[in-house]
Amino acid sequence: MQKGTLYTVSAPSGAGKTSLVKALVDSDSQVTVSVSHTTRAQRPGEENGINYHFVDREAFLAMLDRNAFLEHAQVFDNFYGTSRDWVAETLDSGRDVILEIDWQGAAQVRRLMPDTVGIFILPPSQEALRERLTGRGQDEASVIERRMEQAIDEMSHYVEADYVVINDDFQVALSELKSIVVAQRQRLDRQQQRHGKLLQALLQHD
Ligand code: GDP
Ligand code: ADP
Ligand code: 5GP
Repeated sequence: MQKGTLYTVSAPSGAGKTSLVKALVDSDSQVTVSVSHTTRAQRPGEENGINYHFVDREAFLAMLDRNAFLEHAQVFDNFYGTSRDWVAETLDSGRDVILEIDWQGAAQVRRLMPDTVGIFILPPSQEALRERLTGRGQDEASVIERRMEQAIDEMSHYVEADYVVINDDFQVALSELKSIVVAQRQRLDRQQQRHGKLLQALLQHD
């Protein structure tokens, strides 16, 4: 069984990362998204086990001690972490895995697993980002101002990614994201693994 590809998708909060990744996963049954653990408060509309595994600080630090996280980071005042076992099992089953994680987490994952494909999603402007954060209507004004400051910091790390998608028109950004996943599957090493017999047969003389 060919192992899946691991992707990190990073973006400042509000750039549209969650909406784009959800649309990608809904359109491609081979692609799955990792559900992170977080100590952040649950937002209205979010479901435990779907958007995040919501845990308290004590439970998070206990998992950290057990080495349960492939990567973890502190973003704003909260901890976020990715389950090591779930990612390994899902990749082994042949499915692609997307980690929606901040740049610190993406850097940790890239060090551990150099084959990881890094994607960065950017908004078309700072104004659009502020509007989306406000439009989502789930954070207070003071939180949004802090998130804007953090967003600029997060965006400065786009240079560490392999691919950059600008989320101006949603459908255009989605098709660009899909094309990255499709192109990745046609890379030489993947095709050699998938079509080993065919490639051998094509080069045979009678
Ligand atoms: P503060 O104590 O309110 O300033 O919050 P901090 O986030 O700075 O730290 C709270 C607690 O979490 C401290 O006991 C830290 O040592 C611990 N902590 C923070 N980050 C990590 C981490 O990455 N790993 C572990 N094991 N503990 C951490
Ligand atoms: P993130 O996960 O990066 O914080 P979300 O996916 O929650 O971002 O998107 C933030 C807000 O912006 C949501 O209300 C979403 O519907 C909206 N949004 C996402 N992409 C676009 C786009 N291309 N144009 C306009 N609004 C968008
Ligand atoms: P939000 O609270 O808006 O859902 O996410 C805030 C930030 O935390 C985003 O930049 C997001 O990428 C990051 N994040 C979410 N889950 C994880 C995770 O498991 N690990 C790391 N390192 N960052 C995460």
